[in-house]
Amino acid sequence: MSDFTPTERTQVMRLPKRGKYDAETVYKILDEAFVCHVGFIAGGQPYVIPTNFGRVSDKLYLHGSAASRMLRTLSQGIPVCVTVTLVDGLVLARSAFHHSVNYRSVVILGTAKLVEDPTEKMEALRLFTEHIMKGRWDEIRWPNEQEMKGTTVLSLPLEEVSAKVRVGGPVDDEEDYAMPVWAGVLPLGMTKGEPVPDARLKAETPIPDYIANYSR
Ligand SMILES: Cc1cc2nc3c(=O)[nH]c(=O)nc-3n(C[C@H](O)[C@H](O)[C@H](O)COP(=O)(O)OP(=O)(O)OC[C@H]3O[C@@H](n4cnc5c(N)ncnc54)[C@H](O)[C@@H]3O)c2cc1C
Repeated sequence: MSDFTPTERTQVMRLPKRGKYDAETVYKILDEAFVCHVGFIAGGQPYVIPTNFGRVSDKLYLHGSAASRMLRTLSQGIPVCVTVTLVDGLVLARSAFHHSVNYRSVVILGTAKLVEDPTEKMEALRLFTEHIMKGRWDEIRWPNEQEMKGTTVLSLPLEEVSAKVRVGGPVDDEEDYAMPVWAGVLPLGMTKGEPVPDARLKAETPIPDYIANYSR
């Protein structure tokens, strides 16, 4: 697990001490998240499309319909920017100006590659699924030939990468600390709800532990 080297394009400019380039921080963010935003230009128009991803080692996997413009465009090897964001809390200051958000985010620059080899593609789909819900792949029906044909899988190498992290409470101007207004952090996070069984679920089917105890 080697750290990332900031480049001219990934050097955090605003509040640079929040910039992180160590692999541990980057991978931890990528492993807690499973939604990213993929930025690319098609026909001169920039698009930023939300999508799921999986991370394994130094690769990010994207998948979807073979008809998807995003995947068709990216498979041509054009430059792409992928952003992942986790929101940890609202930072409530005494002044409007010093309000903030505690967050952890990652920006990845590079070019994606089509995963074509059928064995590698199936493995990528397994890793993608396991990234989002560990334990699921072994229980479900795996994609058949036709489903594989209709699915595009891309891999994006984690090479030019930055993370940015904000933690802690508000930092107010000295004269504002006397104000009688609540200040602090309202932590926010993703929580699991109660599983809702499918209407056609066989009544005796137990809920697996990986669903009952799901957490990121
Ligand atoms: C949390 C999340 C996870 C997703 N995971 C996947 C995934 O793993 N694989 C996958 O293929 N797709 C995923 N999607 C759907 C994805 O965002 C696109 O809608 C999908 O890829 C369709 O692409 P397309 O090429 O047909 O759309 P395009 O042809 O690129 O879309 C045409 C236009 O439709 C509109 N549009 C498309 N998608 C969205 C959107 N999500 N929200 C609002 N407007 C939109 C935009 O205006 C866009 O320019 C996910 C979406 C969300 C929100």
